[in-house]
Amino acid sequence: MATNVKALLPFNTEHCFIGGCWRPSQSAERVVLHNPSNAQALCQIAAGNADDIDAAVAAATNALQTEWGGYSALQRGRVLARMGQLVTDNVELLATLEAADVGKPLSQARADAIALARYLEFYAGAADKVHGETLPYLDGYTVYTLREPHGVTGHIVPWNYPMQIIGRSVGAALTMGNACVLKPAEDACLTALMFADIARQAGLPDGALNVVPGIGEVAGAALASHPGVKHLSFTGSVGVGEAIQTQAARNIVPVTLELGGKSPQLVFDDADLHEALPFLVNAGIQNAGQTCSASSRILVQRGVYDAVLELMAEKYRGLRVGPAEADYELGPLISAEQKKRVEGYLAQDTLLDLIAQGVLVDEATDEGYFVVPRLYACTDPQHVLAQQEIFGPVQVVIPFDDEAQAVAIANGTEFGLVASVWTQNGARQMRLAKKLKAGQVFINNYGAGGGVELPFGGVGKSGHGREKGFEALYGFSTLKTVAAKHG
Ligand code: NAD
Repeated sequence: MATNVKALLPFNTEHCFIGGCWRPSQSAERVVLHNPSNAQALCQIAAGNADDIDAAVAAATNALQTEWGGYSALQRGRVLARMGQLVTDNVELLATLEAADVGKPLSQARADAIALARYLEFYAGAADKVHGETLPYLDGYTVYTLREPHGVTGHIVPWNYPMQIIGRSVGAALTMGNACVLKPAEDACLTALMFADIARQAGLPDGALNVVPGIGEVAGAALASHPGVKHLSFTGSVGVGEAIQTQAARNIVPVTLELGGKSPQLVFDDADLHEALPFLVNAGIQNAGQTCSASSRILVQRGVYDAVLELMAEKYRGLRVGPAEADYELGPLISAEQKKRVEGYLAQDTLLDLIAQGVLVDEATDEGYFVVPRLYACTDPQHVLAQQEIFGPVQVVIPFDDEAQAVAIANGTEFGLVASVWTQNGARQMRLAKKLKAGQVFINNYGAGGGVELPFGGVGKSGHGREKGFEALYGFSTLKTVAAKHG
């Protein structure tokens, strides 16, 4: 089914959103967006350049000196609430765009749109509840702290969860009174553009949000190195994260890096396997495994290893892969390049046992970037498929003997984003929550339904800084201490 995205959008997809209006890019270059389910061209977007980024940073700087900069916390909250309501009103449109652009099954795309609305709602309510402290000090002084915006914030986001990542990063930055320049991914950016239009419709003051689409090495690099940008938020791969951090260091600005993962779930002999099963599988195959917090490693104690493998295998055999619009459990991968990358990993599976795989439905044509999900038994935690982020629908199930070995395997990659523990033993739950190297640990669940309230981020090569919840608001603001001597 062809989706005519141009007919769905109230703006020209080849324009940038700068200073509150849609404007032609200063670059003559264009990027063609494709539908990953059938490789058909969807539309063209601007390949924004350094001049577009300059204009966007200038518009953001101006916004801070004019209407937006004068907004009270209450006013910021109210405009975010209007944006959240408009997102809610447009959930079906946003889901349709995301399914066509990212290849995400429609119900998963819908969940992302609902999550975007939820971020805006949460931050709208939080806007006037972030405050400083008064500090006891010497006699004759009153000392307090103020939370202030950084200024212009740069947001570089990937293609896999555009709406959720924009919600948690741009949503939090606006809450604290920053003015944002957003560079969405060149592979998929229609919902980012629609988000800009929603901000316009909601009456967000001109220049508070600017969106410049374009390729990473041009528009992204220009944004990351721009001296007018006072905070960078990057979500994406480790390699590009390193480049962004280097740029941030040159300009001495703070940076939040949300990078990759190889997140484990630890299943002990006493776990409720039927409770765990949907989480074990869904956390690996959601968005066709193209999720930073995908659980690509399942560590299972020997007493239940065979049982878990069999339960998971049964689920895998029922997983269907097909066009995003048809809403099966899995859609395609984002691009031919990503498919090739994942197949490159699968070609290295010689020392693993393929236990089960999903089914490609008849509607899935050769033109789409489909990869069938695979479940492997793996006795070597150092195997390349058990160590590297594949970013595709692949899970390895690794046996362990005891708690100490489980922790060593779980912590034995360069990443540390998310982990979960399945056990009824309360003391073990508490011990492992401390011992696991991860930004989030879940006990007898995984992901806690997205949880916009819950601080999220990594350790090690998964990055640093926290988004989501109130922690994000501290990250998107700077603390000033005021010491008044009055005698
Ligand atoms: P990527 O790093 O290739 O691209 C991410 C963004 O960076 C895109 O907008 C891209 O245009 C831009 N970019 C690329 N090169 C750039 C450069 N030189 N300078 C500035 N910007 C540049 O990542 P991807 O392939 O789009 O996304 C997949 C990766 O993102 C995975 O590793 C995944 O784990 C990670 N990810 C992490 C999280 C998280 O919250 N931790 C969430 C989603 C995705």
